[in-house]
Amino acid sequence: KDFRNNVKPNWCPGCGDFSIQAAIQRAAANVGLEPEQLAVISGIGCSGRISGYINAYGLHGIHGRALPIAQGVKLANRELTVIASGGDGDGFAIGMGHTIHAIRRNLNITYIVMDNQIYGLTKGQTSPRSAEGFVTKSTPEGSIESTLSPLEIAMSAGATFVAQSFSSDLKQLTALIEAGIKHEGFSLINVFSPCVTFNKINTYDWFKERVVNLEQFPDYDATNRIAAMNKIMETEGMLTGLIYQNTERKSYEDMIPGFQPEALAKQDLALSQDQFDSLLAEFK
Ligand code: SF4
Repeated sequence: KDFRNNVKPNWCPGCGDFSIQAAIQRAAANVGLEPEQLAVISGIGCSGRISGYINAYGLHGIHGRALPIAQGVKLANRELTVIASGGDGDGFAIGMGHTIHAIRRNLNITYIVMDNQIYGLTKGQTSPRSAEGFVTKSTPEGSIESTLSPLEIAMSAGATFVAQSFSSDLKQLTALIEAGIKHEGFSLINVFSPCVTFNKINTYDWFKERVVNLEQFPDYDATNRIAAMNKIMETEGMLTGLIYQNTERKSYEDMIPGFQPEALAKQDLALSQDQFDSLLAEFK
């Protein structure tokens, strides 16, 4: 089970995205998947390249649209483990409409956001995750917009699995991706992934000084929605670990009446040849 391929990533040396790639590869192996059982769907951005760097099915989609594609893949073939991935601009700006509805829809997909708080591929513009006052070429006087909180949004959208990690903590990140894959529903894993080339504020040291690992709170109950919301707000969104999980709610696939566990391609059409020919004729 080797999820490495022979493509050399062209991320900048030191980019946080390398650890996320390694964590996905390790998590997939640890849960016992074979490469042909995994699909990695990505959007656009430096992070979007990840689908080409993992030995599995991969699709590098279009900007902000990783989730619609991933949901289509999952509906067509429930037997695949589907991971969607992209950056904070991809998922929380242009793709935010899809993100919210994918969260509340609760298909069995793991969504990993590589959150570097800037647009890296286009050489450094303010993203929805940038802090107020953040100076870039697009905000030379400093950003005057408030910072979006993906964890609070996910919780209020009815998420059944919310986690956050830091690319420096490969052990925690791998364990969270494993848990996300095993979760029967939509899992959001936001990962602080420093952009070493364009973001000189939110560096590895900046995150190390600020992240609050949930391990510090042994009595924390990740099944308590109110406690999760409170802890997210108390820590100003810097919490890492498994923040919330609801195993009671069924996945979208399990709620579709009659939806079969096999891939669509393996199912009987349940049509006679005449019915099939007549159906085809409608589209001629
Ligand atoms: Fe990573 Fe930033 Fe380089 Fe993109 S520009 S590869 S996000 S370090």
